[in-house]
Amino acid sequence: MSHAPENAIIALIVAAGRGRRFADRPRADAPPKQYRRLGREPVLRHVLRAFENHPHVSHIQTVIHPDDGALYAQAADGFEKCLPPVAGGSERQASVLAGLTAVRAMNPASVLVHDAARPHVSAELITRIAQALETAKAVVPVAPVPDTVRLLGDGRTSQTLPRDRLRRVQTPQGFDFRILLEAHEKAARTPGRVFTDDASMVEQAGIEVLCVDGDEKNIKLTVESDLMERLDYRTGSGFDAHRFTQGGHVTLCGVKIPHEQTLEGHSDADVAIHALTDALLGALALGDIGRHFPMSDENNRNRASEDFLRFAVDRAAGLQARIVNIDLTIICEVPKIGPYREEMVSRLAAIMNLDGSQISVKATTTEKMGFTGRAEGIAAQAVASVALPRGAVMTSD
Ligand code: MG
Repeated sequence: MSHAPENAIIALIVAAGRGRRFADRPRADAPPKQYRRLGREPVLRHVLRAFENHPHVSHIQTVIHPDDGALYAQAADGFEKCLPPVAGGSERQASVLAGLTAVRAMNPASVLVHDAARPHVSAELITRIAQALETAKAVVPVAPVPDTVRLLGDGRTSQTLPRDRLRRVQTPQGFDFRILLEAHEKAARTPGRVFTDDASMVEQAGIEVLCVDGDEKNIKLTVESDLMERLDYRTGSGFDAHRFTQGGHVTLCGVKIPHEQTLEGHSDADVAIHALTDALLGALALGDIGRHFPMSDENNRNRASEDFLRFAVDRAAGLQARIVNIDLTIICEVPKIGPYREEMVSRLAAIMNLDGSQISVKATTTEKMGFTGRAEGIAAQAVASVALPRGAVMTSD
């Protein structure tokens, strides 16, 4: 292992957490928050870049969960200061110790311990900590507390704390490497005592902790909405019409409705789902059904229209786009749509993995005017709205 240069600072990134507290996860299989996308890139990549580009930092040691090797490799791709990651423990404290142990042979002067869930760490803040370490053994960035804080006592008692003397503690926290390593090794030998951060641990060992100004933007991602700061909203529209022909039912929004005629067209001729699918593809700038399912392909001839909609929903998920809402209008004289409206909403909700409250299905006539007025067929129009990370790559295929 290479030795760090004199006065070298190693950045220790703690990225082993599973994010169990990360609220409102859209799917159970969503990656931990440090690997979720923030803008174009995983959260951890923003963190690594900040330290990679900082002149005071010589190496970056990341502590990861053993299952996250592939996600880490993507996040760290191309960064030259990154040492091979090491596996963390079940608690943050054990993970920090694993990271410190991994770099001990390099004998660095200082270490900056940083949470992987703080992607907005700035070069200015890193510089501030590094400069303070020239004279201090332990440095933490702190930010004011905007709310009035009460300390709960026993039962119903509580008291207001002096807000002007309270601070929120952020990372990176900077330490003399030897002092932090020794504090962690000692803590590991005395189980039961849990420290919420590294500064409180070295403080316990009698080391004075210097506070420097933190940064309001340096937030720790704790809820889903923290990732959603930079979103683009897009809207797409779709329209379709199919003519009546001989038959005994029509299919609209996946719901079979008895009728003295049927709609002409490939598969189930579900004009409503066709309009809706085109609206969603439109919001994603991905063309229309015809482009993805050409009728010249025999395989598409009798495909259920639900397949088209599922395809569009999958493409949205692939772009990390969340469907915000859809609004669909079915235009016809016959059959009556009202009695089937609720069933249509639940059917679409099931296909699109949405809540019924995100789906609107309406119906109207054209007062006996035009082709729908003469009951020659049914038309449908739809609007779909999606939210996607700013800068998401939209492709035209
Ligand atoms: Mg159609």
